[in-house]
Amino acid sequence: MTEIHLTRLPPSLEALSVLALNLRWGWHAPTRELFERLDPVLWEHTGHNPIRLLAEVDRAVLERAAADESYRTALRAALTDLEAYLARAASPRGDVPRVAYLSAEFGLVECLQIFAGGLGVLAGDHLKSASDLAVPLVGIGLFYREGYFTQELDEEGRQHARYRVAEPARLPLRAELDSDGKPVLVSIPFADRTLHARIWRADVGRVPLYLLDSNVPENREDDRQVTDRLYGGDVEHRLKQEMLLGIGGIRALAALNVTVDVIHLNEGHAAFAAVERAAQRIRRAGNEKVAFRDGLQRASQGVVYTTHTPVPAGHDYFPAELLKRYMGAYVWELHETWDHFLSLGRENAADASEPFCMTLLALRASARRNGVSRLHGKVSRAMWHSIWPNLSEDEVPIGHVTNGVHLPTWVAPAMADLYREYLGESWSDDPKPFHWRRAEQIPAAALWTARNSLRAKLVDSVRRRLRAQLERRGQEASWTEEVLDPGALTIVFARRFATYKRATLLLSQPERLTRLLNDPTRPVQFVFAGKAHPKDEPGQALLRQIHEFAMDPAHRRRFVFLEGYDVAVARTLVQGADVWLNVPLRPYEASGTSGMKSAANGGLNLSIPDGWWAEAWTDHNRGDAPIGWSIEAGLDASLTREQQDRADANALFELLESEVLPIFHAQASGLPAEWVERMRSAIRQVPSFFNTHRMVAEYVEKYYRPAGLADARAQQLFAERTG
Ligand SMILES: *Cc1c(COP(=O)(O)O)cnc(C)c1O
Repeated sequence: MTEIHLTRLPPSLEALSVLALNLRWGWHAPTRELFERLDPVLWEHTGHNPIRLLAEVDRAVLERAAADESYRTALRAALTDLEAYLARAASPRGDVPRVAYLSAEFGLVECLQIFAGGLGVLAGDHLKSASDLAVPLVGIGLFYREGYFTQELDEEGRQHARYRVAEPARLPLRAELDSDGKPVLVSIPFADRTLHARIWRADVGRVPLYLLDSNVPENREDDRQVTDRLYGGDVEHRLKQEMLLGIGGIRALAALNVTVDVIHLNEGHAAFAAVERAAQRIRRAGNEKVAFRDGLQRASQGVVYTTHTPVPAGHDYFPAELLKRYMGAYVWELHETWDHFLSLGRENAADASEPFCMTLLALRASARRNGVSRLHGKVSRAMWHSIWPNLSEDEVPIGHVTNGVHLPTWVAPAMADLYREYLGESWSDDPKPFHWRRAEQIPAAALWTARNSLRAKLVDSVRRRLRAQLERRGQEASWTEEVLDPGALTIVFARRFATYKRATLLLSQPERLTRLLNDPTRPVQFVFAGKAHPKDEPGQALLRQIHEFAMDPAHRRRFVFLEGYDVAVARTLVQGADVWLNVPLRPYEASGTSGMKSAANGGLNLSIPDGWWAEAWTDHNRGDAPIGWSIEAGLDASLTREQQDRADANALFELLESEVLPIFHAQASGLPAEWVERMRSAIRQVPSFFNTHRMVAEYVEKYYRPAGLADARAQQLFAERTG
């Protein structure tokens, strides 16, 4: 399908279609520039979508590029680079098991809106690093035609969720077709009928990502909507999606002849995959030979499960009757009693009113499990202790792999230039602490120049976006030309507006905040961004408060709310911020990753010691200068929520007033020497550990490899026994 409108490319530019269809352009700047260079306005307008760009760009533009020697040279270089990248030898560690990584969301590039937030971006960064490291991994997810919502605020600060319908043929995707050229179909038992889905493939460097799409004529009308929106609809809709992701995902591998040794469940949404994988093996052995529960137990050796949140609402629960309606027939085919199947998702099997919890299923159907930071591992062990009542809390078998970010995706070109010069060409391919020690040698003036230019880009982008935002609402927008000051200390708070993240903590002391904003000797400015889930009323109320404060003419030039937080906005903000602010209620932030992106660009984190920051602050903070600031009011279980908020807000203002502002503005020598020392300290110690190359390598060594070996052993033992 995608080929059709690409035939309009002049022969000498045909390589553009090859480059467009591999998402490596998302983290390979020279390739992305080839698209942007053709028509920068259209590139923005299409939401950075090279397929649409090539389909819609003027013929004259293409012909001009075809006649431009320098363009053709750059194009040839990019193609050669991609071919070399794809051909690069497999991981030097050798014999890495083949892995299927299942996730409800993937955040890879702006134009593929199949993610909501941190979980998806992490999954996307996981695939990118697996590709860079040549780990034999495939991704499995869903193709949501309407994606996640786009955020618009009205004049009163009320959030409106807009959905845009995406056409797969206008995205960098390929259809998986059979030998007759028809879509490969996957089918699963589904209540009293069968649900079908076709498969789209996104190539993420070397890693294929298979996306299931229920919008096929074989389905009845309402079933075609199963993959309409990410996290849209009710609990029934969610169950349908999770059945397709888990059961359909494993069936898709079989339909495509993809063999894997290990499956990795990224969050509980995908837990049915472990059930289907066991079922396939039981069917292969002959149903009569194996009881389902034994088969599931044995297959669990090859299942890795990562849990991502300590917030109760982040775990899926399905009422038993609902589950039975959709899964009854499937479970019957497993020769399993319904009651036993239900007990896999219950804490108390005998409690008929207890709903079925996907997290419990995932914990039981996997032999290896982990949280996403050291603190979150500990919190998870306490949270799920009841499933292992005979073990002490410390012995609960949930470990941790601390999250990271994909550095080539998130580091600004200006910083990448410095890293290339001072750390070496391989700074991002091989981000070991050893290389990053050389950050000591980056001259203060060079660091400060880069920081100033990135802040200026942020200011520019905020002005443009804010203007568009006001004009859409029909509001006066001329003042946006003077919004923000490229020389002022720039503090960013950009994240989901979930209540535990406490977006309004600064607003709890409005006089103190206003005093900071109005101090002419130490200019400071704040940029806020983030979406609240359409059903999260309290989260939307926080949005309204921030919006109201941001629209106040008294300080609207220094305190901005930017709507439509997405990967493109995130990139500008993490690259341009001087300070990355994070104030979650401990211990609800499992990890957080945006602060890692900021530090990799020389930003300083100002954060509650929760998630990754708790670990960074104690283990990766050994230099002469601290890597940022930790808001340490302490956690006192005897405090009420209000008292805890007050204590944290006080500690936050204290730090802003006595350290953050004074250190930034001590620029008598032309640059803030102590600030730059902290930047260097953060650059030296944060990205060298908090990156997805390290993270994926840790999954390979601690989880994938042992899982692959144990699974092979379990299968062999079984084969010998049943002969
Ligand atoms: C990195 C990122 C996130 C996750 O950041 P947190 O620190 O978990 O808030 C969410 N959304 C986008 C668009 C991102 O780029």
